[in-house]
Amino acid sequence: MEQVDSMRVVYSPRHHLHDPDFEVTGGRRIAGYEVAARVESIRHALESDPDFSFEAPGTFGIGPIRAVHDAGLIAYLESAWQDWRARGTGASAIMPDAFLHPGARAGMGDAPAPSSPCGQAGYYCFDTATPIVPGTYEVTRVACDAALTAADGVLSGERSVYALTRPPGHHSARAVFGGYCYLNQAAVAVEWLAGRTHDRIAVLDVDYHHGNGTQQIFYDREDVLYTSIHADPSRTFPYFAGHASETGAGAGTGTTFNQPMPAGTNDAQYLEAIERTLTRIEAFRPAVVVVSLGFDTYGQDPIGDFALTTPVYHEIGRRAGALDLPLVIIQEGGYDVANLGRNAREWLRGSAGLAPAFAAEDGVKAIGS
Ligand SMILES: [Zn+2]
Repeated sequence: MEQVDSMRVVYSPRHHLHDPDFEVTGGRRIAGYEVAARVESIRHALESDPDFSFEAPGTFGIGPIRAVHDAGLIAYLESAWQDWRARGTGASAIMPDAFLHPGARAGMGDAPAPSSPCGQAGYYCFDTATPIVPGTYEVTRVACDAALTAADGVLSGERSVYALTRPPGHHSARAVFGGYCYLNQAAVAVEWLAGRTHDRIAVLDVDYHHGNGTQQIFYDREDVLYTSIHADPSRTFPYFAGHASETGAGAGTGTTFNQPMPAGTNDAQYLEAIERTLTRIEAFRPAVVVVSLGFDTYGQDPIGDFALTTPVYHEIGRRAGALDLPLVIIQEGGYDVANLGRNAREWLRGSAGLAPAFAAEDGVKAIGS
């Protein structure tokens, strides 16, 4: 039998079917940052590296998604485009024009789900950066299948498997979606792993943004540790979650660990934060670590305001790999398409105990451990 010692990468070209051509951010209509070229940049970087091998996602059905998301949200995402085409405004993408703000219903109880396509959009979506287009539901389902394929890989004995997916997922909560995210593939993988292992699962969320959706889904769970290092929500999306004071509730008290970071966060500051996070994860003694991997922490990223450099991604990956726990690595954000592939390759090589690639290529000095 041929020995397979390369890191498995789960990838499907079907992500191209989700291709919104705009978003509204900060009051501006712009082309949109969450584009297919992001994942293709990473694919090109890894395909040229013999230490990685590609495979297609398996099929896991709707069950693992129902275990995490509200049935109304799933049904909405599945039928939204067809309904919009039949009864919507004729626009090429679905975007809400009114939101279910809690203040509008304060003291009056819950609102029933509206029947109009625009009303439903504002009932299930919380921002103006997450349009639904014809392929959106299919692609977010493929992303969940890819995350579950990676999870299945580590349960079958792999040290780590990487799900190279888009759109990202960690902003989507149990019953609402937003932040470029529709279904939360990291949360789906966590719940599936918890059910299979009957053991503790930890999340290491290193996207620039706080993973408000993942935090919410597991906020009261004692068997799931959610950790995140992210831009302080007082200045950055998702604005309403991610503060250090949020530490879990009920049986999950103490199983959320947030480290909000200042603008300009550099390699040294980030590594100190990673050390604190990894210490918490080790103390939790999880069976598996699910990594929400984002590269919008990079100094050149058009959305983020951190100052991380390419070499630090290898070091962060190396330290995560040194936990010596199975890693299910799921791609989240990162919008500097030109450097995304290089940064991802370094992180993944570090996590697998492989030497950096950058030193040979461009003489960048490695960061010592
Ligand atoms: Zn992000």
